[in-house]
Amino acid sequence: MTAVEVSQETFDSLDPATDEVVGTYPVQTREQVEEAVERAREASRWWMSLGFDGRAERLRRWNATITRRMRELCEVVQRETGKPYGDAQLEVVLAIEHVAWAAKNARKVLGRKRRSAGLLLSNHTATVEYLPLGVVGVIGPWNYPVFTPMGSITYALAAGNTVVFKPSEYTPGVGKWLVDTFAEAVPEHPVFQLITGFGKTGAALVGAGVDKIAFTGSTATGKKIMAAAAETLTPVVIEAGGKDALLVDSDADLDAAADAAVWGAFSNSGQTCIGVERVYVHERVYDSFLEKVLALTGKVKAGEQYGPMTMPAQLDVVRKHIADAIARGGRALTGGNVGERFVEPTVLVDVPEDAEAVCEETFGPTMTVAKVRDMDEAVEKANATKYGLASTVFSKHNGQRLADRLRAGMTSINAPFSFAGIASLPFGGVGDSGFGRIHGPEGLREFARPKAVAKQRFAVPLKLTSFTRTDKTEQLVGKLVTTLHGRGGKE
Ligand code: NAD
Repeated sequence: MTAVEVSQETFDSLDPATDEVVGTYPVQTREQVEEAVERAREASRWWMSLGFDGRAERLRRWNATITRRMRELCEVVQRETGKPYGDAQLEVVLAIEHVAWAAKNARKVLGRKRRSAGLLLSNHTATVEYLPLGVVGVIGPWNYPVFTPMGSITYALAAGNTVVFKPSEYTPGVGKWLVDTFAEAVPEHPVFQLITGFGKTGAALVGAGVDKIAFTGSTATGKKIMAAAAETLTPVVIEAGGKDALLVDSDADLDAAADAAVWGAFSNSGQTCIGVERVYVHERVYDSFLEKVLALTGKVKAGEQYGPMTMPAQLDVVRKHIADAIARGGRALTGGNVGERFVEPTVLVDVPEDAEAVCEETFGPTMTVAKVRDMDEAVEKANATKYGLASTVFSKHNGQRLADRLRAGMTSINAPFSFAGIASLPFGGVGDSGFGRIHGPEGLREFARPKAVAKQRFAVPLKLTSFTRTDKTEQLVGKLVTTLHGRGGKE
């Protein structure tokens, strides 16, 4: 045993419903993180050399293992987050879809393609291909400990990078399960490694010379990571918080809209980055929508349909937002109680638009419902936020038009969260919700660098880039470009 192992500090992962210790993990040091990145750098040569097909075959092998042992993974997720089995299964199933999509489409999206060389250089062929970056550091949150980091891990691996993964300190067991099963499917080299610890270990990964950091977590941490990454000009993709709105138009299917609002706000105890936190309803249907929401909410019980708050500190945030809303004239039509571990589903109305419950990410099972005179007002209020992750619209006739006007990275129309399950669609936000994209072709390109090659097929007498260039050539080129582009703006 080495000296490092003897003195290794550890931390416990707890069951959030009981505080029972479900695992103990090392708090890895800066040196250990740097060693992992070094191993990843060596492994990346082999992983790159496999090419798209070799990597796809191995990713499929891993995906088959995840699928066959899904129950085991769901149980680890349940133990560390407290979420019901069905919810754990849903995030695992979506992650499996993404692994399959990334493996299948990496060559098509990233492989070498011809581009037009244009008239001036028509004696050339022009190509572009997307090459791996090298080593990608992935830092993940705890709320969807499979689905969320896998959106970066899978796409980074399929693009040809090796990955060093720092899961949340609340869900290290899930990270370990993913890394261990990958090593079973791909035993040759440490292509996908785990490091565990708190924020300090994550910060060490940011400074360890990786080629990109993919961060998912709070906006505040995202800002710290971006500042630290600037020191070494390490690029980052930031998937941060949200304050997503759901819009209900006067012609909406109110049963479906109420069902989506209740699921979107309360599932996973509201600890969902794309969770519904605000609802804006056309005044013509406000009363009946609210009635339906309250009827459905009556059937949702904390501890049955959703679990405890995974992170105890979040209980204070939820408590503060509800208290602030009520102090400013808001009313909790149901719920409002924040217990030791569980929060009752809470529907708030008459909350001023500048209250914390409307402006800040609550990340608990609460929703504010507000009446609007028309959908212009709904769009304006939905957009009056520093965040811009996702959004939902319920409307029979105006769904697309309303979606187009929402300042958010993603919008689903007439169903909740659909974009997250469609592997070909990019996922990510604007403003305080971050930038960069995971999932889909954009998610593959996020973890690759474009390489442009121009190849001369035959020499032409008109040499432009040589000291042998003549006056005649210059005049000819001047005439040519005038003929091609000089008429813009003229009738
Ligand atoms: P967090 O920011 O507290 O932690 C996220 C990760 O960052 C953890 O692994 C943590 O150890 C690490 N970390 C903390 N400080 C660090 C530092 N200085 N340097 C490097 N790493 C550091 O977030 P959380 O509480 O785990 O997750 C909840 C948040 O994540 C919510 O705001 C939620 O909206 C957001 N989220 C966003 C998405 C998305 O896709 N946009 C998805 C899921 C969750």
